[in-house]
Amino acid sequence: MLKVTPILCRAGQMDNYAYLLQDMQTGISAVLDPSEVAPVVAECEKQQIKPQFIFNTHHHFDHVEGNLALKQKYGAKVVVGAADFYRINGADIAVEDGDIFKLGNSEAQIIRADGHTIGHILWYFAKDKLLFTGDVLFNLSIGGLFEGTPEQMWTSLCKIKKLPDDVLFYPGHEYTLYGLGHLYGPAAEVYAAKAHERLQKGLPVAPITLGEEKVVNPYLACRDLNEFYQLMGS
Ligand code: ZN
Ligand code: FE
Repeated sequence: MLKVTPILCRAGQMDNYAYLLQDMQTGISAVLDPSEVAPVVAECEKQQIKPQFIFNTHHHFDHVEGNLALKQKYGAKVVVGAADFYRINGADIAVEDGDIFKLGNSEAQIIRADGHTIGHILWYFAKDKLLFTGDVLFNLSIGGLFEGTPEQMWTSLCKIKKLPDDVLFYPGHEYTLYGLGHLYGPAAEVYAAKAHERLQKGLPVAPITLGEEKVVNPYLACRDLNEFYQLMGS
């Protein structure tokens, strides 16, 4: 079993989420996308955890800036997508599409997901039914196309669409309010009520099931590339 603790970083600015992951059987742990040092260290100290690994989804500074300091503090190994190996500070281990990376007795499957960047990866814990989507998929929206094409992004979204509906997803940013601004219809109201309730308590909107997201998120709800083009163009 994997325990997940979201850690809000760059609060009120970019609203990134780092995630502290702990395999409960072995105590082996990792920090995914340490955007900042201080909030991550605070959470590690609160839980008395010294992470053995740092996982990154992609090379953008707001996902990797804590790498070097945390690597130094905890002796953690930095695990990154192979295409990002030479452009992420402190990278130790490269993983590729289809690889399984073991965190204690938990297992992450690496899914390559180009579009936001080339070489972006998703961390999918199939048995635990958890998916970390970085800047590919947010609540109700998707990441901008910094390096990839709409076709590449669509291919990546289709990989997510194929995953089971009961998988919970954890995005790289708290952008739900932005997404809600573009939504209409009854399903959107249910989602909005849940989102506002969680945000008012100071909690992340994540995790939401992929089943719900596939229906409500307008980008995931596209049926084919043509619909996706139209949405991207609008
Ligand atoms: Zn990014
Ligand atoms: Fe980002």
